[in-house]
Amino acid sequence: MRRIVLIGPPASGKGTQCRRIQNLLDVPTLGTGKLLRKEVESGSKLGLEVEDYLNRGAYVPDALIMELVKAWMAKRSESGWLLDGYPRTLAQAEALESDASFQAPTLAIALDVPQHELEQRIISRRECADCGATVSVSSPDELNCNDCNGELVSRSDDDLENFRRRYANYSELTQPLFDYYAAKGKLLLVNGSASPEDVFCVINNHLSE
Ligand SMILES: [Zn+2]
Repeated sequence: MRRIVLIGPPASGKGTQCRRIQNLLDVPTLGTGKLLRKEVESGSKLGLEVEDYLNRGAYVPDALIMELVKAWMAKRSESGWLLDGYPRTLAQAEALESDASFQAPTLAIALDVPQHELEQRIISRRECADCGATVSVSSPDELNCNDCNGELVSRSDDDLENFRRRYANYSELTQPLFDYYAAKGKLLLVNGSASPEDVFCVINNHLSE
């Protein structure tokens, strides 16, 4: 049974690879952002607590997220799973590994992309106002969508300053997981600078072994 965690910095292409791995393996996939939103929608006691943090723009505490992940995992103990962007911290990783109410991952896939390249991606990323496609422009003069000719706009979350804040957070809290999983012999380190096709090819080869 496969239990996979996928880690990587913002703009590393994690979302794309996550969808491809999910298509390949057909396992339940958990993204914590979505999990939090679902809990809020459910109106549960935990959901109300989560909503309070989100409304204040505060970080949802580790312990609370762990409760939600635990509950999600308990229902999927037979199927294996794929975690998108979780764990984010060593404390979360250690809990997954050793807390009996979690299940330990069998593999950690880490996308490695240098910061300057991620920034380049952020700068050149646009979204089509009409069809919603995300495109990477090769020059700032590229104003229209190739597919529908709609207007290309910068995504609101693409602000470079915002990225740098998230990246600093990532390198402090999440990057140490590379060494953590390497020491456990569970790390598949993938060069995320390659094209999405080539990145997936490496992952696919490993998963098909
Ligand atoms: Zn378009």
